[in-house]
Amino acid sequence: MKILVAVKRVVDYSVKVRIKSDRTGMDLAGVKMSLNPFDEIAVEEALRLKEKGVCSEVLVVSIGDTAVQESLRAALALGADRAIHVKTELETQPLGVAKALKALVEKETPQLVVLGKQAIDDDFNQTGQMLSALLKWPQGTFISSLTIEGQEIQAVREVDGGLETLKMPLPAVLTTDLRLNQPRYASLPNIMKARQKPMEILTANMLGVDLTPHLQTLKVAEPPPRKPGLKVESVDALLDRLRHEAKVI
Ligand code: AMP
Repeated sequence: MKILVAVKRVVDYSVKVRIKSDRTGMDLAGVKMSLNPFDEIAVEEALRLKEKGVCSEVLVVSIGDTAVQESLRAALALGADRAIHVKTELETQPLGVAKALKALVEKETPQLVVLGKQAIDDDFNQTGQMLSALLKWPQGTFISSLTIEGQEIQAVREVDGGLETLKMPLPAVLTTDLRLNQPRYASLPNIMKARQKPMEILTANMLGVDLTPHLQTLKVAEPPPRKPGLKVESVDALLDRLRHEAKVI
């Protein structure tokens, strides 16, 4: 079985982003970019399935400008077999990405697509769900544990009330949560080897999809500054403040 993993290049989680002075978005000049952390977990899970003999090929895909090839190389260095870059200069949004992934699924016929539950730049948390609807495949979102036996998937999801266990047939779409696994680090020899692995470059036109963004950002603003915390003298003083000053937000 072939697994397709979608990976996005995003601002590194450790960067404190600044808003552009015209408030149209983030100022990304000179900012450190990385593979989306949930997508690293998706790659790791696909690699573990390959190591268990459940899967024969891990294909990683990214949609974006030329710079996303860096993220694809990072995924290849972790152990993915092959990469596809869908090249576009347009800002990528969930519906366009889901349509491009659907076209790639039709071209590549994987049995499983694994995505991150969300990209940490826009926090949309939509692409996996949209892809599952477009393909009419079952979905397991926010999964924290996965087993595949034959043609059946068992996935545990993290929901507000606890853990929900789902059973579904292949082919399917899964999205990863943080606790699914601990991704490996790429070794230096694997980073070198990744340079030789195949990377195909396609365009949206070649896939017959339209990546024109449908959402327009009107304004980006900083959250209001938080009031500083304070120390109270005693438990009674704390209770008094909670009773008389604390508000439910
Ligand atoms: P989102 O719905 O934007 O929060 O993204 C959820 C997941 O969709 C990400 O973790 C990726 O696995 C995938 N994804 C989103 N945007 C892209 C992109 N431009 N290229 C490849 N995969 C993407």
